[in-house]
Amino acid sequence: MTGPTVPDSALPRVLHLPRVLQGALWAHARRDAPAECVGAIGGYERPDGLHALTLYPLPNIAADPVRQYLADPVHLLRALKAMQAEELSLVALYHSHPCGPAVPSRTDTQLAAYSVPYLIADLRGGSLLAYALPEATPVEIVSGPD
Ligand SMILES: [Zn+2]
Repeated sequence: MTGPTVPDSALPRVLHLPRVLQGALWAHARRDAPAECVGAIGGYERPDGLHALTLYPLPNIAADPVRQYLADPVHLLRALKAMQAEELSLVALYHSHPCGPAVPSRTDTQLAAYSVPYLIADLRGGSLLAYALPEATPVEIVSGPD
């Protein structure tokens, strides 16, 4: 008798992201260009994956925001508290690559501190992809529900 399949990572492989949040994410990325944007996404976890509900744009306080991102820790903490107040969890972090591509940079991988999917929006190519870091394992983004 065999037990259930044990995933090799605790992180869910699917993120359900409503189109309205995708739209808000792209709007934030365009607004902050040519600098990279950064933000947090709140939601909840279900057996079918992570479900995104709210988007929290955060200030990018990196020394060179055109090439890197660093979320303002005060604003990040505020966002996490707002999620807690709504009984939500941090389900993803996002940032943009104004000149692409939608793959994690070496710095992105080195600085990844949360066990949530990291979304990268490639403003030039128009693609939005998600990864578990530091392994850079792809996480599937499913549009909706809307
Ligand atoms: Zn990056």
